[in-house]
Amino acid sequence: FLPHLVAALEEVEETYIMVKPDGVQRGLVGEIISRFEKKGFKLTGLKLFQCPKELAEEHYKDLKAKPFFPVLIEYITSGPVVCMAWEGVGVVASARKLIGSTNPLQAEPGTIRGDLAVQTGRNVVHGSDSPENGKREIALWFKEGEIVQWTSALVSWLRE
Ligand code: GDP
Ligand code: MG
Repeated sequence: FLPHLVAALEEVEETYIMVKPDGVQRGLVGEIISRFEKKGFKLTGLKLFQCPKELAEEHYKDLKAKPFFPVLIEYITSGPVVCMAWEGVGVVASARKLIGSTNPLQAEPGTIRGDLAVQTGRNVVHGSDSPENGKREIALWFKEGEIVQWTSALVSWLRE
């Protein structure tokens, strides 16, 4: 019965994943979505979106003092992004692993950034860094009604 107890303690988290404008322009949307889909997480929100400057500034408010903040805001608003909400046990940390290090040259092969990018300023994808930020960012980027709760038919094939 121990595994069941452990499973009961495992909390379902949500994370905000975003294909950045370079990922959209380079035709990497399908590839990036499919990494999370194949891993076994559940998609609960998805849209193509042109991000206004104010939203980009709010999303990255913790980086406001950084010298690269203006170019970061310019980058994120330079074209459409694909906004996603993903749900699952451990999804926040696991998605960060699937994404890889901030600098794509240091990101491990097999990760999204390690396989698909070469520079920090064009690192193709965002992922929330904590469950709290996952919630905050999903609330920031999605309106009510845009997040869909559904039961995946695969659930018993993904988790014991
Ligand atoms: P992340 O959580 O791995 O995305 O990295 P951070 O939260 O540290 O930074 C947020 C984003 O800001 C990164 O994904 C990059 O797009 C950008 N960024 C971070 N550091 C730099 C930098 O030194 N130069 C530039 N141009 N962009 C940066
Ligand atoms: Mg970050």
